[in-house]
Amino acid sequence: MLQAQQELLDWQGRGCSVMEVSHRSPEYVEVAQQAEQDLRDLLSIPSNYKVLFLQGGASAQFGAVPLNLMQSEKPLAQYIHSGHWANKAIAEARRFGEVTIAGSSEDKGFTYAPAESALKLDPAADYLHYTPNETIGGVEFPYIPDSESLGVPLVADMSSNILSRPLDVSRFGVIYAGAQKNIGPSGLAVVIVREDLLDRARPEIPRILHWRVSADADSMDNTPPTFAWYLAGLVFKWLKEVGGLEAMEELNRRKAEKLYAYIDGSDFYSNPIARDSRSRMNVPFVLRDDSLDGLFLQQSKDAGLLNLKGHRVVGGMRASIYNAIPEEAVDALISFMDDFARQHG
Ligand code: PMP
Repeated sequence: MLQAQQELLDWQGRGCSVMEVSHRSPEYVEVAQQAEQDLRDLLSIPSNYKVLFLQGGASAQFGAVPLNLMQSEKPLAQYIHSGHWANKAIAEARRFGEVTIAGSSEDKGFTYAPAESALKLDPAADYLHYTPNETIGGVEFPYIPDSESLGVPLVADMSSNILSRPLDVSRFGVIYAGAQKNIGPSGLAVVIVREDLLDRARPEIPRILHWRVSADADSMDNTPPTFAWYLAGLVFKWLKEVGGLEAMEELNRRKAEKLYAYIDGSDFYSNPIARDSRSRMNVPFVLRDDSLDGLFLQQSKDAGLLNLKGHRVVGGMRASIYNAIPEEAVDALISFMDDFARQHG
């Protein structure tokens, strides 16, 4: 953000902002291509995958996925139901065809990732969709479902854990992510799609959602969100500078481990998620006495610890510790939580 601020009014000595230049100008096309290349380097994306920079966030992809992948005759998709965001994706897909549930954790309030051995995969499905990290629930899958070996493309909504650690992209048919957690400004979505999946779309699909159209136009069939794409490029450069995804994984592991260890060791706070399914990005926790929630939120805010209120559908607290959160911030949170527990425990 500091770099963006410094060059906001005078980008590359041109006397204008990057958001003022044409998306078709050679200088902007270079920004766009470099961002794609840096993302490819970070995730080691194989050459038979296209990388798209699209609009409408992850939510537009909830509709784009079925429209691109569900057959017109007997459309059938499978979804794993792991909580709030999976539910949104399922509801949207049901508007376009039949959806069966390959696995669900609804029986225990979405506090774990359905076990791999319990999945009921259907080889007739057009694809299998899952949400590797449930942002609100704080549930992260400890495995990658293996539908690909049945010939069923695997689709993942990686909005809240993409770039948090290295990833074997070749295990997926499609990966998509809203940008606003680990990539850049909201509104942008990144889609990584294997080339053999580009030509299955239904004829009535809107052009703007058609992955083939976007792939052929280098994501410039219409005017892309140029400033968001540029900022995403700066984030990719930063990730490379700090050591890439191996370094991020190490940092994220340390941050999450110390926060969960503190919560587990306390009788004042608790986290309800099964240990093997705990998210490294989103750490929900509740106070033993929820009448103190308001005071906790007020005092933590006063201490400079922001956005700790849990999502309205689950209540309690949630610490989102994405890539941009330094380890010192987690230390400060633990220290605040400890002081608060001593005062009120
Ligand atoms: N999926 C997941 C896992 C998310 O966390 C979010 C946003 N928090 C979305 C989808 C929706 O993203 P957007 O608001 O960019 O459409």
